[in-house]
Amino acid sequence: MIQRFFLTIKGIVQGVGFRPFIYNLARSMDMKGWINNSSEGVYIDVEGTEENINMFVKYIKQNKPQLAQIDSIEVIRKDYIGYSSFEIKSSEEKTAKATLVSPDIAICKDCLEDIMEFTNHRYQYPFTNCTNCGPRFSIIKDIPYDRKYTTMNQFTMCKVCKNEYEDPNNRRFHAQPNACPECGPKLWVEDNVGRLIAVNDSIEFILHRLEQGNIIGIKGIGGFHLVCDATNEKVIEKLRIRKKRMEKPFAVMMKDLSTIKEYCYVNDKEKEILEGIRKPIVLLNKLENCNLPSNIAPAQKTLGAMLPYTPLHHLLFQGGQKILIMTSANLNGLPIEYRDDRARRNLIGIVDYFLFNNREINIPVDDSVVRVIEGEEIIIRRARGYVPLPIKFGCTKNILSCGSNMKNTFCVSKENNLFLSQHNGDLDTLESYENYQQNIEHFKHIFRIEPEYIAIDKHEGYISSQYSQNYNLPVIKIQHHHAHVVSCLIENNISEKVIGVVFDGTGYGDDGAIWGGEFLVTDIVEYERVGHLDYIKIPGGDSAMKEPWKSGVAYLYKAFKGNKSLDDIIERNYGDKGKALLKVIKADINCHNSSSMGRLFDAVASIIGIRNKISFEGQAAMELESLIEFDSEESYVYSLKKEEEVILDMIPTIKEILDDKIKGVNNSKIALKFHNTLIKATVEICKKVRSNYGISNVAISGGVFQNSYLLKNVRSKLVEADFNVYINKSIPCNDGGIALGQIAIASEYIKKSEKIHSSN
Ligand code: ZN
Ligand code: ZN
Ligand code: FE
Repeated sequence: MIQRFFLTIKGIVQGVGFRPFIYNLARSMDMKGWINNSSEGVYIDVEGTEENINMFVKYIKQNKPQLAQIDSIEVIRKDYIGYSSFEIKSSEEKTAKATLVSPDIAICKDCLEDIMEFTNHRYQYPFTNCTNCGPRFSIIKDIPYDRKYTTMNQFTMCKVCKNEYEDPNNRRFHAQPNACPECGPKLWVEDNVGRLIAVNDSIEFILHRLEQGNIIGIKGIGGFHLVCDATNEKVIEKLRIRKKRMEKPFAVMMKDLSTIKEYCYVNDKEKEILEGIRKPIVLLNKLENCNLPSNIAPAQKTLGAMLPYTPLHHLLFQGGQKILIMTSANLNGLPIEYRDDRARRNLIGIVDYFLFNNREINIPVDDSVVRVIEGEEIIIRRARGYVPLPIKFGCTKNILSCGSNMKNTFCVSKENNLFLSQHNGDLDTLESYENYQQNIEHFKHIFRIEPEYIAIDKHEGYISSQYSQNYNLPVIKIQHHHAHVVSCLIENNISEKVIGVVFDGTGYGDDGAIWGGEFLVTDIVEYERVGHLDYIKIPGGDSAMKEPWKSGVAYLYKAFKGNKSLDDIIERNYGDKGKALLKVIKADINCHNSSSMGRLFDAVASIIGIRNKISFEGQAAMELESLIEFDSEESYVYSLKKEEEVILDMIPTIKEILDDKIKGVNNSKIALKFHNTLIKATVEICKKVRSNYGISNVAISGGVFQNSYLLKNVRSKLVEADFNVYINKSIPCNDGGIALGQIAIASEYIKKSEKIHSSN
């Protein structure tokens, strides 16, 4: 008997070729009815036998388009109508329901063939895309995902494109950004002051300029890149000077995988990610004989590399170039440039030429950065290709969490989905703050969210915390390191109590001190601080972050306080400025108690003489990790002081490090022993906490765990000691994950207080 069924499919089912897939499936099964995009996913109204419908649903689950993600399929029976064909109906207008939006996806194999095939209508066309690939999140202004709600709305499809767009059997059926050389976006070249340069072939012109050692501002999917020849040390130096970014590593884009293998180790997992549909920057270990200019990533053993992910990128590798510097185009500290006029204004002193196009970017998205550790993808910066994929979590209220101040992301919740924003950078400039606010508005709009609660960091000085004053809503304040642990619990789906180990640079502590070497017994709702790195008085508090030598003096002071050699040691290591700072510390002027693990790494890096000043966050720690050359179990002495909490005292380690330094032990060995000491201490503290609390789950988080030696060994040593260990993978362990922790804690807190209210 033929019956009518109504299906609601939720998940990522728009802009991914879902409707043509269903259309073809229904027709092949001779089922009648229709499909359309709705604001909550897709609706399918279909008539067939019950057996048909079961097969239909099974087939959908098993054979869905590559980019589709199905969260749920709901089937209800309806009164039989007697449809005569299967149709694709136009989209329903928006309701208050949340639709999932696809991230931007790298060019697919078929489209790549199109642009490389001489006889193809899209030969060399830089904006080629189809339902399986191309821009999504970056061009969407509104939902449902239809061309008229994207920045492609200013281009009218030519006949050829329109036919493809309307043909369910075509790969470009309802590919919203569909375009061709006739009707779509175009490239043009300008000089560094914004004068149009008339050229026949923009790509060819740019390729020549790259060869000649110029820096080009190229508009991409989510913003502008600064691009130059990565084999030309001089142009890289020029870029560093112009961008005022002297040491922070640049990412490179390489022509293909075999080129990457000429310079870096690539394992199976790394290959899979490099060649996958998201194409993030992957941090790879350089080959020992990697002969790329050292100023690409000074003092680093790793290189951030990615493969071309837009048609335009592929065209850029058609000349002789095989490796290009491809770094986000921004002035130091400002957000990535993504609007033509602003790029012209702000990049004027940096680029020699611009390669523009008239496909507008609606929302900026940086390249994502990932690393593979023990065969697993670890996301360090979550943006293009990953955002706005939701994280599933039972949230009953609409909450906005404002995130941290550095490496900011924010998060909004709706109907069991947490939408974590793309990386917004550091919020300490007006431009970044404006960008942050604008991105929040965009998320609220496309996901139809009106927050009922705001979650912020306890640090009231954070700009992200102050932002909450724009709302007249209940504000929930969340401790920074609790949020770190919970970000890890959420992605691992853990709700019971764990030992949270959080090592990071800075975070506002409940006692007003700067925390950052923390052991918490915690679940999503509550935490208790059960141990920490011993406090040290750091002059200037957070401002010491940029000057590791200050941490060096502070630790040496603590190590040799009352010892008559103190002044000599400080003078020998730091000269007059060291002596001056020592006076400040002795007099306790503007000094802050800090248990920051970041400052301990700074101190060690400074004491062994590798780094006294830094130009980007975490630099000293990264360089310290880079020194490690071999594996051994050697370590230094530390001590655990038992007060009401376990206090980790690393002063004995500092003393031994200074001894080793004086004895002429090489830095590589000192760095290794220092890391091993910290690993040993961490495991010992976890064991103590386990015996006190009976908890053997450990969740590890915090930016210091971007250090892969530390992460790998803390994890494996804990596992050896029979702990269950959870780490951040899909959510950054650095402050990019804070907003996720905040929103989950706030949600549980609200649930709990509602329960208390209702039982009263
Ligand atoms: Zn494609
Ligand atoms: Zn066209
Ligand atoms: Fe942090």
